[in-house]
Amino acid sequence: MISGVPAHVDGRMLPITEKAGGRIVNKDRMWHYTEGIRNWNPIWPSHGIRILPGPSSIWLNAEGKRFDAPNFPGFDTLGTLHTIQDTGYDYSWFILTAKIIEKEFALSGSEQNPDLTGKSIKQVLSRILPGPPKPVQAFMDKGEDFIVARTIEELVEGMNLVTGNELLDVNTIERQLLARDREMDNSFTKDLQITALRGARNYIGDKLIRVAKPHKILDPKNGPLIAVRLNILTRKTLGGLQTDLEGRVMNEFEKAVPGLYAAGEVAGFGGGGVHGYRALEGTFLGGCLFSGRQVGRALSQI
Ligand SMILES: Cc1cc2nc3c(=O)[nH]c(=O)nc-3n(C[C@H](O)[C@H](O)[C@H](O)COP(=O)(O)OP(=O)(O)OC[C@H]3O[C@@H](n4cnc5c(N)ncnc54)[C@H](O)[C@@H]3O)c2cc1C
Repeated sequence: MISGVPAHVDGRMLPITEKAGGRIVNKDRMWHYTEGIRNWNPIWPSHGIRILPGPSSIWLNAEGKRFDAPNFPGFDTLGTLHTIQDTGYDYSWFILTAKIIEKEFALSGSEQNPDLTGKSIKQVLSRILPGPPKPVQAFMDKGEDFIVARTIEELVEGMNLVTGNELLDVNTIERQLLARDREMDNSFTKDLQITALRGARNYIGDKLIRVAKPHKILDPKNGPLIAVRLNILTRKTLGGLQTDLEGRVMNEFEKAVPGLYAAGEVAGFGGGGVHGYRALEGTFLGGCLFSGRQVGRALSQI
């Protein structure tokens, strides 16, 4: 696994709090991402970045077989994690085109989003311009998990070089891509990924900045072809200290540990597990802020 947080984010305070009487719940629930890439410019050991993918890339297992529905990019992280683990390999592949990467790849992490962290409206708006954003282009140029090629033969050769094995066969991959591309001409296709692309583009927000216009992957005018090896990236445990609604930390007997409060992620995923195990992406901060407010209010009453 690669690591989605710095080494010092190690959960050390959880066992310390447990020793002081606090109860930890759900510590076996881990949250990993399935679209992790090694940072070419790491800040911490095994620094992994998560791709926040749009829905168009073709997702293959380590042996080059396309995953079944609904294992499409961005659909169901826990479900896809399960599917990948069932293959016996700890990585998988995206195959896509230049047209897909420029519209559909966003990278998670503050250093990968200088337009947002720099609060530059002009730079944020430039995301709709043609061409990949600069941080994505840097990964295409320097990332060890990326292969960019003009032909499918060259692409598959590069993919096998990255993993150092010969698991991938060009004919098997080409056959699947041709079958998928053929469905682009079928307006009532049973390829559910293509149906999903068409559905997503009915929403103006997705159409503008998230979902590439559906196109044939093997048509050279949409190229070059791109392959990305996806590693499992670990982010956190969904477990945390059990609290009551005022943020007081509970002990094994459901009694408050005197003077001990927890707010934010330490109180469980998104601050108290409010979003459940299959939490919706991007909603974790809300629960952290909410539990912080609850604790603040409770403390002000003391
Ligand atoms: C790369 C990345 C991307 C993310 N993207 C999103 C997103 O798009 N949307 C979303 O909703 N959530 C996202 N999250 C999750 C979200 O950032 C966290 O849930 C949230 O920041 C947790 O806030 P917190 O205040 O509970 O904890 P933290 O922000 O981790 O704050 C804990 C603080 O305690 C300090 N600390 C630790 N130990 C000690 C000590 N012993 N003494 C004193 N201080 C100490 C730490 O230095 C830190 O400042 C992302 C997380 C990561 C890592």
